[in-house]
Amino acid sequence: MLLKQREITESSWANLGTAELLQDQEFAQSFPTHLTAMRQRIDSGTVQWDEVKEFYTSTVQRLIELIVIDVAKLDHTEGISYELQSLSYIASSRENLGLIRATLNRGYQQGQLSKKEFEYLISLYGTFTSNLRTFEAISKTHFKETADSAWLVELRSEMFHSVIYKIDNTLNTGGKLVSGNALAWWREATLVIDTMKRTEDAILDQIKRQVLDQIKYYKNYLYWYAFFAIITLTTVTLLTAFTVYRILKALSILIHSLENVEKTEDFGLRINTWSKDEFGQISHSINSLLSYTDKIIKDKEFLATTDMLTDTMNRRSFVAASKKEIQRSERYGIPLSMIYCDIDFFKSINDQHGHAAGDEILKIFATTLKQNVRINDYVGRWGGEEFVILAVETDLASAEKLSEKLRRNIMETSVLNVGQVTSSFGVAEKKKGEIFEKLCERADQALYKAKNSGRNKVCLSEAIKTGKAN
Ligand code: GH3
Ligand code: MG
Ligand code: MG
Repeated sequence: MLLKQREITESSWANLGTAELLQDQEFAQSFPTHLTAMRQRIDSGTVQWDEVKEFYTSTVQRLIELIVIDVAKLDHTEGISYELQSLSYIASSRENLGLIRATLNRGYQQGQLSKKEFEYLISLYGTFTSNLRTFEAISKTHFKETADSAWLVELRSEMFHSVIYKIDNTLNTGGKLVSGNALAWWREATLVIDTMKRTEDAILDQIKRQVLDQIKYYKNYLYWYAFFAIITLTTVTLLTAFTVYRILKALSILIHSLENVEKTEDFGLRINTWSKDEFGQISHSINSLLSYTDKIIKDKEFLATTDMLTDTMNRRSFVAASKKEIQRSERYGIPLSMIYCDIDFFKSINDQHGHAAGDEILKIFATTLKQNVRINDYVGRWGGEEFVILAVETDLASAEKLSEKLRRNIMETSVLNVGQVTSSFGVAEKKKGEIFEKLCERADQALYKAKNSGRNKVCLSEAIKTGKAN
């Protein structure tokens, strides 16, 4: 019995030590040595009972104190603080019952407890009942809803009441005991101690379960955290990918548009802006730049191709346009006519009315030409007061009609103090396979004829016709 008890003490101590529950390192280190020394003295019978009792009592009290300190520390541990508290109270209570069992057992054997043993029994019993009541109070308050309330039912068994009754009885009789009851007492007390031990184990199981639940909870929490982290990360990645895609798309549109401008040299092209963000602004800026460039180019082209005084095509651009139209006319067999026109006696107008008046007449003359030709026709200043008209999709007869209309219009336009201004026209329709220079030559010859035959008339390259002035 004694050896078994010693074994239990050692394994419990080992558990306490490895659990690092003990805060008093000095006590933790010196206790095994003191215990071994005390056991040797008990075994050799060289120790007084009071001394043994004092050693065990102080040891148990110190252990309880340390457990209570640890429990207080763990008080904030969510979920298991009540289990830990109830465990410490019932363990302390069981320890006291163990000491009561030993003390009373000796009393039974002796038939009487000494005064000191009796006082010791009173103190043990006080601690035992107080700790047990606290344990029950915690259990009733915090575990009554659970199946673990069975702890309380089992604890308050008939056997338990019998044990309590015997202790009470001993205390009431001032420590007198009937020695024949020793074995029965020991057995009953042991059964109650075992019940308490089972209760502790059940509480410990509950603590383990709750800790495992807590771990599971944290694990799940972490899974969720990881899950949300992955979701967040994926979202961020997708958003980043979308942003990168948008940037790449915008850049590709920008680059493609700029390449197009570079390739076609068409500064009239524009970048499609689809957003109001930075790319939209960049596109807008580039478009403004293109517009500006386009305007400069068009201005330059206008200056290069237009006669500034009369706002008609200059000779160079007229030649270029005429050559293209001659090719088109040749390819599709479309008629095309060239009209040469020259203001009559312009030298004398200049001489009589001044160069500015001459300029004004040139402008009015050009405006009359432009206003009376079709939109696809070309009007150019050939030089001085001589103009040319390329009438597309127009045969000789139609070109003659047009020239006649122009001649009349000019003649009927009264200009400032100058009065009536007349002009002469030479018309030629392009023959099959005829080149530009040849066509011009024939038109010029027709004009020459018009000049030589009295002016203010229209002459055709094939046959001379006249429209007399009124
Ligand atoms: P014709 O009836 O035979 O055509 O006689 P014309 O006087 O009109 O012809 P001519 O070729 O002898 O004279 C052309 C004049 O036009 C000479 C020139 O001073 C004038 N002239 C040429 N260019 C301009 C110009 O830009 N402005 C002005 N005011 N006069 C010009
Ligand atoms: Mg003239
Ligand atoms: Mg002339």
